[in-house]
Amino acid sequence: MGKRVAILGSTGSIGQNALQVLAALGPEYEVAALTTHSRIDLLAEQVRRFQPQIAAVTHPDFSKGNIPALDGFRGQILLGPEALTEIASQEDIDIILCAVVGAAGLPALLAAAQAGKRLAIANKEPLVIAGELLTRQAAAGGAEILPIDSEHSAVFQALQAGRPEEVRRIVLTASGGPFLRSRPEEIEQATAAQALAHPTWRMGPKITVDSATMVNKALEVMEARWLFGLPVDKIDVLIHPESVIHSMVEFIDGSVMAQMGTPDMKTPIQYALTYPQRKPGLSKGLQLETLGRLTFEAPDLNRFRALAVGYEAARLGGSAPVVFNAANEEAVAAFLEGRIPFGRIIELIEQCLQNHSVQTHLSLEALLEIDRWARQEVHRNLEHRTVLTSQKENR
Ligand code: NAD
Ligand code: MG
Repeated sequence: MGKRVAILGSTGSIGQNALQVLAALGPEYEVAALTTHSRIDLLAEQVRRFQPQIAAVTHPDFSKGNIPALDGFRGQILLGPEALTEIASQEDIDIILCAVVGAAGLPALLAAAQAGKRLAIANKEPLVIAGELLTRQAAAGGAEILPIDSEHSAVFQALQAGRPEEVRRIVLTASGGPFLRSRPEEIEQATAAQALAHPTWRMGPKITVDSATMVNKALEVMEARWLFGLPVDKIDVLIHPESVIHSMVEFIDGSVMAQMGTPDMKTPIQYALTYPQRKPGLSKGLQLETLGRLTFEAPDLNRFRALAVGYEAARLGGSAPVVFNAANEEAVAAFLEGRIPFGRIIELIEQCLQNHSVQTHLSLEALLEIDRWARQEVHRNLEHRTVLTSQKENR
C-alpha cells in the first residue's frame, strides 16, 4: 500500500497543485482525505477523480442535506471545522498536507504532531502563532515537519549540505512584490487590484496582499525561527526580483548553498512528500541562459515598514507574533473589502502591537485568546476611524 496523504484545503491554490503532484507520483501515494471550506463543486470533482476515504466541508453553514454534489460519494463525509482534527487523528493516514489559509489548521497539526505523522505545512500561521508548542509536540510525538513554503523548502534542501551547528545564517529571498519600484505615496493609496498583481507567483488573495506589504516575509522569518531552531538575528532577508533563488544557507566556512528553480509550488510540495528521496517532477527545468542575470538588493525598510515591524515582533517573541499575524489578517480582510487603503494595513498592525504587552510561555488557549483580542482591537480601530470620518463629513 502507498503512503496515505490527507490534503487539508484541497480546493485552494496549494491544494490543487498538491493533487497534480500526487496524480503524477502514481500508486506509491494515495489520496486519503480531501477538504474544502465552501468550494463544494470543486471538492466533488476532486472526490470523483481521487476517490478518497474521507471528504470534508469545514464551513459551519453546511449540513448533509444541503450538499447534493457529494451525493454519489461512498466514503465518509465530515462537516464543520473539527473535521480537520478528526482527519489528522486517523491512524491510517501517514501525511497531513496542510494547505488551508490562516491559523485554521493549527489544532489539526497539533493532533498530527502528537500522533507522530509527517506534517507537510504550507500555511505559515500555525508556526508563527504556536511554533514553540508545535515543534515541541512534534519532537515528543516523533513527528516530522516538512516545509512547503518555497523559501523554507529551499532552506531545508540547502541544509542537507551540512549540520545544524555549522549554519552561520540563512537568507530568505523576496521578490519585492508589485510595489518594489513604486513611490511611497502610491503604495499608501494602492487598491486591492494593484496589490493583487504579483509579478512572479500566482497565489491566493491573502498571501498575495501579504507579499505586497512584505508582511509575508516577516511571517516567514517567524516561521523559519521555529522550523530551523535559529535565533532571529541569523535569519536575513534579501530582495531578489526574479524569484529564481528561493533561499540560501550560509555555513560557518563561508560556503553558501542556494536552491534554485522556476517559481512553481509543485517542486516544494513534492519534496515535502517524497523527502528524503527525489522523484521525477512536473516543474519545468530552469533555463538560466534565457534569464541572463539574477539581481539582488537589500530591502528598503522605509518602503516596507511591515518588515521592520515584523522583525521587531519576531525578536520580542512570545505573544508578539500572534498579535502581528492576527492584526494583519483582519487588516487585509478590510483592505480586500475596499474599506481601507493599502497603507493603513501596517498602521493597524502597529497600533495593535503598541496596545499589547508581550507575554511568554503561553498555552494554546492563551495564545488563541490573544489572537481574538488582536482581531477585536483592529475592528475597534476601524470603527473608531469610521466614526471620526463621518463626524468630519457631518460638520
Ligand atoms: P487558497 O485561498 O487558494 O486556498 C485555501 C484553502 O483552504 C481552500 O481549499 C479553502 O477551501 C480552505 N479554507 C479556507 N478557509 C478555511 C477555514 N477557515 N477552515 C478550513 N479550510 C479553509 O490559499 P493558497 O494560496 O492555497 O494558500 C494556502 C496556504 O499556503 C496559505 O496559508 C498560504 O499562506 C500558504 N502558501 C501559499 C503559497 C502559494 O503559492 N499559493 C505559497 C506559500 C505558502
Ligand atoms: Mg513563501
